[in-house]
Amino acid sequence: MSTKKKILIGEDERPMAKALELKLNSVGFEAKAVFNGNEVIEELTTNKYDLLLLDLIMPKLGGLEVIREAGKEQNIIVVSAVGQDKVVKEAKDLGAKGYIVKPFDNKQVIEEINKVLG
Ligand SMILES: [Mg+2]
Repeated sequence: MSTKKKILIGEDERPMAKALELKLNSVGFEAKAVFNGNEVIEELTTNKYDLLLLDLIMPKLGGLEVIREAGKEQNIIVVSAVGQDKVVKEAKDLGAKGYIVKPFDNKQVIEEINKVLG
């Protein structure tokens, strides 16, 4: 049985999503990237993830809606270019446990993941 923590990445910029997926897999997580909000919800209803890394501006279903649908039991860290206090507050009020403003470096993302999962 795998003890790797499962991380879902919801990010519509595919190269960024795939790069993050590769990086997280290389440091011992089991990461999977999907590319719009509907796919995130589909994936969360099919599989259990220890953590969701979530972009806010995505086609079909935006990140804030995803947080609402995923519910407060789901660990979520928002990774977004949107850094306005109002949006950060809304995401956190809806249940996001962390918020990283793009551009990010991988080290920062991994530290934040470990903080939430630890
Ligand atoms: Mg986006």
